Amino acid sequence: MASSSREAALEEVHAQIRVCLLCPLCKSRTHAVPGEGSNGAETMFVGEGPGAEEDRQGRPFVGASGKLLARLLSGIGIDREDVFITSLVKCRPPGNREPRPEEIAACHPYLARQMEIIGPRVICPLGRFAAQSLVDNRISISVEHGKPRRIGDVLYFPMYHPAAALHRVGIIDELERDVRELRRTLDRELPGSRTKRNG
Ligand code: URA
Repeated sequence: MASSSREAALEEVHAQIRVCLLCPLCKSRTHAVPGEGSNGAETMFVGEGPGAEEDRQGRPFVGASGKLLARLLSGIGIDREDVFITSLVKCRPPGNREPRPEEIAACHPYLARQMEIIGPRVICPLGRFAAQSLVDNRISISVEHGKPRRIGDVLYFPMYHPAAALHRVGIIDELERDVRELRRTLDRELPGSRTKRNG
């Protein structure tokens, strides 16, 4: 698909997300947060759900965990504009509670469509919910983080959610180690790709 067709197809999905009424999260949202980044991204990051700042702005990962994610990515030469960043659920769970299985299920067709349009080769689920939803519903993130797993044409690279590193001692070191491993994985999987080291 040409970039202009991908952009139009993504914009259509994102317009649907912005007015979605498929689950109760629509009642408390200020803005739905479809996701953003390159429509041809070879790497996609999937978080859990928007927080307060994301809900306010309608943009993914713009709060404290987003700043940490951007710092980690820039440390391995990735600009957030070159990847695609989204979440399992596109509307903020009130009080930042965990998303419920039925909310994740209701929102899944939007994520599936984003993946179909963008066609990433590497997907990084951030945190337990994304890893369980996208890779294996029995996955333990504390065991499987940083370990790539191929499913069909896509390489999944689960990582801790950056918010976990902000709230729990010791996670930041693991996340930094995983991000360095992600760099090596991308260099191996996507040589000369759009998601490459800057400079
Ligand atoms: N956490 C998420 O999972 N998604 C966001 O957009 C922000 C924080």
